[in-house]
Amino acid sequence: MLSKSDFTTALDCPKKLWLSRHMPDVKEATAPTALRRMQIGTEVGLLAKRRFPSGITVPVWELGNEAAAAKTEELMAAGQDVLFEATFLQDDLVARVDVLKREDSGWRIIEVKATTKYKKPVHLLDVAFQASLFARCGHTLSGASLMHIDTNYVWDGGDWDVDNLFQIEEITDDVVKVLPQIPDQAASILNSINQAEYPPVDGEAPYYDPVIHSSCKGCEFAKHCTPRVPADHIYYLGLHHSRSKKLLANGIRAIGGVPKDLKMSDTERLRYQAFVTQKPAVSGDLDSRLAEIQYPAHLIDFETLRPDLPLFAGHSPFLMLPFQWSCHTLNAAPDWSVTDQSIGHSEFLHQHRSDPREAFIQSLLAQTSTGGSILHYHDFEKQVINEMVKDGVPGADQVQAMFDRFIDLRKILEDCYADAKFLGKTSIKNVLPVVAPTLSYSGLNIQNGDQAQVAYARMLAGELGDDQAKQLFADLLEYCKLDTWAMVEILKALSAVA
Ligand code: SF4
Repeated sequence: MLSKSDFTTALDCPKKLWLSRHMPDVKEATAPTALRRMQIGTEVGLLAKRRFPSGITVPVWELGNEAAAAKTEELMAAGQDVLFEATFLQDDLVARVDVLKREDSGWRIIEVKATTKYKKPVHLLDVAFQASLFARCGHTLSGASLMHIDTNYVWDGGDWDVDNLFQIEEITDDVVKVLPQIPDQAASILNSINQAEYPPVDGEAPYYDPVIHSSCKGCEFAKHCTPRVPADHIYYLGLHHSRSKKLLANGIRAIGGVPKDLKMSDTERLRYQAFVTQKPAVSGDLDSRLAEIQYPAHLIDFETLRPDLPLFAGHSPFLMLPFQWSCHTLNAAPDWSVTDQSIGHSEFLHQHRSDPREAFIQSLLAQTSTGGSILHYHDFEKQVINEMVKDGVPGADQVQAMFDRFIDLRKILEDCYADAKFLGKTSIKNVLPVVAPTLSYSGLNIQNGDQAQVAYARMLAGELGDDQAKQLFADLLEYCKLDTWAMVEILKALSAVA
């Protein structure tokens, strides 16, 4: 049996569906963020139903597919005008339609998504699969729509105004265009999942190569797939996708096979050099880039949350809520040969169930008012400030006015230093084990930003008791502090080779 989610999974990566059917044991536990997204998807689905008060839900989970399909036909024939989870079944294909609405000329399929807009590459074939099966069951489609969250909605703190919380976008023309291709695609997927071997992913179809396929990130089968990537694979050069694809298309997988005169950016060339020589590669600019840092230097990191549905009155869906920062401060240019450096640490964590933004920004302003450079890792921190300025958070414009003091430490690392052991990446999680092997996130209760977000969201939603919240705050402080300490270690490593 092939469901619409199986269909879209296989279109994304055929191997993923095959593995989930044939080797479910190698699947890792679903990440907390993905679980949270599922939970939110369910909440949003329930709210969406309220937009259609006359709707009836087909109890597919109680009845099973066959009985649910029969029940759907019965309700449609009986004159019901709106059905939720309307189920259609034929030739080993099954589709459950979020909202099926009767119109003058037939039925409209409405797909509900907890997103901010219609994302054609992701959503279109999902809806088209349903529409195709619906038509094959002998019904007339009058239209197809995508119902998503409207980010302009402002919650007043009372009952949800579902007419304004959602936007319904007309996507019939797009669906009609791709409808003819669906039966063949579905048949081919059904055929491939019945094969003894999984569909080829490394060879004929470079875009399925697990190492350059964007869906590998966060995939529950990544641990199964990525160890198969040889240690000298071009993946570890961190080349631009277009270059990787071209090399793979020409059958070049090993770094040793990369033509020496291949056009690369300076940072790619540095990484290539580090791999070929198996020694760290340093750019001549490193010295001058480090000399731009003014002391006191503040090394900062933020933790944020972007709840799909507003948590506080006056907020819109997906509003950015920064709730924590950590800052290590080097008061003067350090002499790294002295082991006991004087490095200060400050932090902020909003420990209340209220909007954290103003307290966040005011405490940050106080911390950085002493002047000097503000080092961040990648441009996320600046994006957060820009968004707060846009949302009118008092004080955010004052931090934005200090952007000329901001220096991206990751950019310095990317531009000026490469080590094959970074495996083509410059995230803190990849770099720290190389530059400071004794430091690790593995012993922490919170080990990454996703976990921090999910846990904090649960606290804001009132899902944690006092003791749990206290433990969470301690875990968050420890985690964020390690992030900025890791930046200190990276700065130290860069200074050592400059
Ligand atoms: S890790 Fe990548 S190649 Fe492997 S199943 Fe997942 S998406 Fe497919």
